[in-house]
Amino acid sequence: MLITLNERTLQLRSPIATAHGTTTHRKIIEITVQQDGFFGYGESAPLPGFGLETFEETQAALAEWSKNPHSLPTLPAALSGAATALDYLEQSKSQIGLPAGSVAVQALVSATNISSLEKQITDAINDGYSAVKLKVAASDAMTDIKRIDIAVKLIDNQAVLRLDANGGWTTREALDVLTSTNTSRVALVEEPTSDPENWQQIYEETGICIGADEHLTDQAQINRLVDLEAAQTFVLKPSVLGGPPPTREIASEAARNNINVIISSFLDGPIALRAARDLALELAPLEIHGLGTAPLFVEDLPIDVQPVNGYLRRPQTNAPKTFI
Ligand SMILES: [Mg+2]
Repeated sequence: MLITLNERTLQLRSPIATAHGTTTHRKIIEITVQQDGFFGYGESAPLPGFGLETFEETQAALAEWSKNPHSLPTLPAALSGAATALDYLEQSKSQIGLPAGSVAVQALVSATNISSLEKQITDAINDGYSAVKLKVAASDAMTDIKRIDIAVKLIDNQAVLRLDANGGWTTREALDVLTSTNTSRVALVEEPTSDPENWQQIYEETGICIGADEHLTDQAQINRLVDLEAAQTFVLKPSVLGGPPPTREIASEAARNNINVIISSFLDGPIALRAARDLALELAPLEIHGLGTAPLFVEDLPIDVQPVNGYLRRPQTNAPKTFI
């Protein structure tokens, strides 16, 4: 097997502020695997503050794997990219095409400045998104209450609002913010606090469904989430979880426990975004997924990962060869 690695950087149009810090660009390692004339593609892009390895560690792990392909990387971002490339290599070898399809995706809004916030939400509604996700807990609670209020009013009944605190609130702050505003249009809050112990209480007191995201990177934490009945939705990021195989396993576990699944980008580049789209089509085709992130970049990403009217579309791919 021949493995080649290529580095690129994608610039965000505006910095994305979360409770983990501010992101201005994404450094990405693109992976190509080649065997017997078939190809597979993956992408690794760790992000500081999300519990992953550093970019330099990803570089070293993938370089080592490229010399020794039988030993997969163990670091999560490196493994995710490698496993994605191998999954597509197998898909390519099977010569069975993936059917055309489309999935609904949400717009991601993180602006803290009010006029930028209003513009981003208005643009999302005008662009046809059926869900808007607002990053919260990156500033104080009063600012969040004001931002959520504006979002609820602008969205009205044209879309649902989702919130993502990235674990940045205390239980008191979560309850204060989520009961101080008109949250009837808030469909989900991801990782309201850093400890799932009180998520069920937050769900019961606010009526807002809770999404687990950062807590899905470890099986012991997944078991605890299930035991605590802490989340109604699992937000799966294939580029963090180890690529398609573990994503499929966690989705199965979620289904067994009546937990919904949303597939989400990790501010991914085009290859990981495409892979996440394909997993969304495979695992939860009727959900609204966190995959509307391509327009956040200055660079024009390929058309098949760009949302159109709030949907990502997959053209028919890898059509099997026909012989006459
Ligand atoms: Mg999240």
